[in-house]
Formats: sequence, structure tokens, C-alpha cells
Amino acid sequence: MASPEIEALTTVLSRLPGFGPRSARRAVLHLLKRRETAMAPLLTALTRVNERLATCSTCGNVDTSDPCAICADPRRDARSLCVVEEVGDLWALDRSRLFPGRFHVLGGRLSALEGVRPEDLAIDSLLRRVAGGGIDEVVLAMNATLEGQTTAHYIAERIEGYPVRVTQLAHGLPVGGELDYLDEGTLAQALRARRPVA
Ligand SMILES: [Zn+2]
Repeated sequence: MASPEIEALTTVLSRLPGFGPRSARRAVLHLLKRRETAMAPLLTALTRVNERLATCSTCGNVDTSDPCAICADPRRDARSLCVVEEVGDLWALDRSRLFPGRFHVLGGRLSALEGVRPEDLAIDSLLRRVAGGGIDEVVLAMNATLEGQTTAHYIAERIEGYPVRVTQLAHGLPVGGELDYLDEGTLAQALRARRPVA
């Protein structure tokens, strides 16, 4: 039996995605054995991120600055805007610079079942960005789930009156596939083959 402190650390780690009790114990053991080379750097990194954690007030990305690094990057093509459900989707698309433009995170998807309404998502702020001008294309990169597609259609309708091209990720995507879990090749293909919303 480990001390309560070590047990507490193991419990916290075991609740992380991708961890379970077994891998949490292995990670803790690793940290304890390598205090200088593993535990101290982890602690420093966590503290730094924790102190500066911010949600971007423009796009909804989670970063350590507001505006986030993507919104603040002048090399990004401000004329293309990619709309995603969650921050994880943004990160997936951004991982290998598949999309050269900027992003907008909705914070979920419309769901009658879960009672998620348009006003629960960052749709008004999206429309304000579009209305602000300077955007040529809005890429709707919702997940290929029923709710994701419902959300995409709803947004396409709301944007209709603005002078922008509205496109959608191609459906080479597995149905029910979450963007976050797709490999970069599949994502790149879906982006390249994006098509106008009918
Ligand atoms: Zn941002």
C-alpha cells in the first residue's frame, strides 16, 4: 500500500482519458523513480499552463493566451474560417497545418436529445465574425454524426444571406467518426474534397 498522497496522485491520473488504474500506477512509479527528469518538468509544465490557461475570446480555442496563437498568427489566411464542434477537432485539423485559415469552436453540436439549442453554442459569435467581413469561405467541419450534420445545416442556413462560400467536409469520413480520432491522411482528404453545402 502506498501513502495517501501517492494513492491520491494515482487516482487523479487514473481519471484522465486514456488512463486507467493500471497505467496510472505505472506512470506514478515512473514519476517517483525519476523525480528530476520526469516529475519536476511535468510539474513545471502543468503549473505554467495552469497559470496562463485562457479561452480565446475570438474563436473559442483553449490556449495560454487570448487571442490564441492561431488567431494571433498573421501568416494564417484570415479569409477562410473552419467551424468545428470541439477544441479537440480544432487541434486535430491544426496538427499538421492541414487548414491554413482560422477556426471557430462551437462548443458542441445541436441535440434535441440532450437539449442543446442554438443559443447554447457559439453560433451568434460566428455570425458576428462572418458579418464583420473579410471572410470568403466558411468550412463546416462538423462530425459525420446525425447531430453534427444537423448542426452544419442549421449554420449553413443562418449564413446564407452573407457573401461567403459555405463548404462542408467531404464524406469520406466514417459515419459517427469524431474528427479527433481520424488520421491526418483521412482528414486531409476530407478537406481537399470539401464541397459546397447544398
Ligand atoms: Zn483564437
